[in-house]
Amino acid sequence: YQAKEGGGSVAAYDSTRDAASTDQLALLAELREALEVDDQLVLALQPAVDLATGAPTGVEALIRWQHPRRGWLNPIDFIRPVENSEQLGTFTRYVLNKALGVAAGWAREGLDVPISVNLSARSLLDPRLPAEIAEALRRHQVPPHRLVLEITETVVMSELEVIDEVLSTLRSMGVQLAVDDFGTGFSSLTFLTRIAVDELKVDRSFVIRMADSPEAAAIVRTTVGLAHELGLRVVAEGVETAEQRLALAELGCTSAQGYHFFKPMPADKIGAVLGSLRDSAESNVFRLRADG
Ligand code: C2E
Ligand code: MG
Ligand code: MG
Ligand code: MG
Repeated sequence: YQAKEGGGSVAAYDSTRDAASTDQLALLAELREALEVDDQLVLALQPAVDLATGAPTGVEALIRWQHPRRGWLNPIDFIRPVENSEQLGTFTRYVLNKALGVAAGWAREGLDVPISVNLSARSLLDPRLPAEIAEALRRHQVPPHRLVLEITETVVMSELEVIDEVLSTLRSMGVQLAVDDFGTGFSSLTFLTRIAVDELKVDRSFVIRMADSPEAAAIVRTTVGLAHELGLRVVAEGVETAEQRLALAELGCTSAQGYHFFKPMPADKIGAVLGSLRDSAESNVFRLRADG
């Protein structure tokens, strides 16, 4: 993390930077309101599917902000300032609570699909996080293994001990861990020797270039092999074409997510989609059995 510069800065007055930080302060004040008063912050949900059967293997929760003046905002428009503010804890609890609420609804419909929530690395510095998550799981009556926490491994080295402690407590509770954007961090492989995880998510940048970059294809193939060797699930992100889907299946990748299958969708649509995916996956299996 970039530390905020103190008063010692001798940089010339920069009005664009000043305006930008004023705007960030305004945004953070508006976020405080959004978190307190109404439902401006909503989850978009995107299923990942089994490449062999089409069955849903999980659903990722992606935050959206329906801002009264600024319109629909994506995470890239506001996540960074939130991560650097003292509102991160409240924001993280808000997202987890919403996501578990959605997952609790599926359980009532007999769908046992796990929900994945993205966590900012900095929220893992809060030692109260595991107890808060345990409480939220109890409140929503969602079994811990139905929650997958997606983390990126770009964390400050000096903070590793706290983060390892928080992550291993979460995992001992039965919560699952996924490494997001795998291959893009600077320490992915070291991370795997420190923290036991359940899933690797192959970054979209490699999936996009797979067809015309032998390097990208090799990285995808190696990540899939690594996951198999370590007994982890592997999910390819950002699959947009049938060619990519086929290439991934050929490399042994078992699960994928992307616009080719589904765009992120509102919470009130996801239940029906999961139900029909499951039903058609079941009939695929029956058909395969009948053919075999
Ligand atoms: P991510 O976790 O790697 O999520 C994947 C991003 O790729 C999402 O963007 C998703 O909408 C997008 N995506 C999915 N399939 C495709 C595809 O086929 N093509 C393309 N071009 N894009 C695809 P989104 O929703 O804008 O989120 C961006 C990032 O923001 C996420 O990356 C995640 O790191 C972060 N984020 C999202 N929600 C949360 C949250 O609740 N908390 C925190 N801390 N971070 C979040
Ligand atoms: Mg993610
Ligand atoms: Mg990702
Ligand atoms: Mg990504």
